[in-house]
Amino acid sequence: MRQPIVAGNWKMNLSLEQGLELVHSVLEKIGSPKARVIFAPPFPYLQAIAGLTAGRENIFIAAQNCHQEEKGAFTGEVSADMLRSVGAAYVLIGHSERRQYFNETNEVLAAKVRHALSKGLRPIFCCGEPLVIREQGNHIPYVAGQLDAGLFELSEADFRQIIIAYEPIWAIGTGRTAGSDQAQEMHAAIRKLIADRYGAAVAEDTAILYGGSCNAQNAAELFGMPDVDGGLIGGASLKAEDFAAIVGAC
Ligand code: PEP
Repeated sequence: MRQPIVAGNWKMNLSLEQGLELVHSVLEKIGSPKARVIFAPPFPYLQAIAGLTAGRENIFIAAQNCHQEEKGAFTGEVSADMLRSVGAAYVLIGHSERRQYFNETNEVLAAKVRHALSKGLRPIFCCGEPLVIREQGNHIPYVAGQLDAGLFELSEADFRQIIIAYEPIWAIGTGRTAGSDQAQEMHAAIRKLIADRYGAAVAEDTAILYGGSCNAQNAAELFGMPDVDGGLIGGASLKAEDFAAIVGAC
């Protein structure tokens, strides 16, 4: 039985004070959630947010990125060891904004996944197609290619540490959500790809989150689909009431 997961990706938003207030308020509203809840604040806030969530069951911290090398002359970068040392348990890898604005290739992403795992950080691996690919009807092979390149070289034991987030690029920050049937179609296809590569038991155990304009109004319908195990939430994770309602929709 997969536990639902709701992760909030703050991106480059909020002051530290606003972030602390947000987490405080979300924790108050959600009580003891059925879902695993993950906050992904900007790097400089990780330690302070981890201080607020320490000791809370089912509440975790994620970084929004990490470098693929252990250490060295990589000005401006942050290592997996550093992230672990300030309380991060998860890391987003392959978000479409990283792929698009920072030219993170499949090869780099695969290296990030391997390195994060070697340091005990669990990747939340993002995949998803641009609009033009969906309109051509090639969305499933496109996402299959991303998973193949980014994840399917992993051993079964390593793959079991992965959470997948399907985020169609045309739905991120646009207010245009994938329909629950579109989400279910892709999530079922991803689960089948995992089953083909690692077997049915691994596929059954893998959490596949939906991301892309998920909000307090549409979360329950999306999360009600059999292969949608929760959400990776952008804009709506910045408002305590909305994020708490999404957590409650699991
Ligand atoms: C995201 O960027 O991961 C995301 C899902 O954003 P939004 O919810 O704002 O579409």
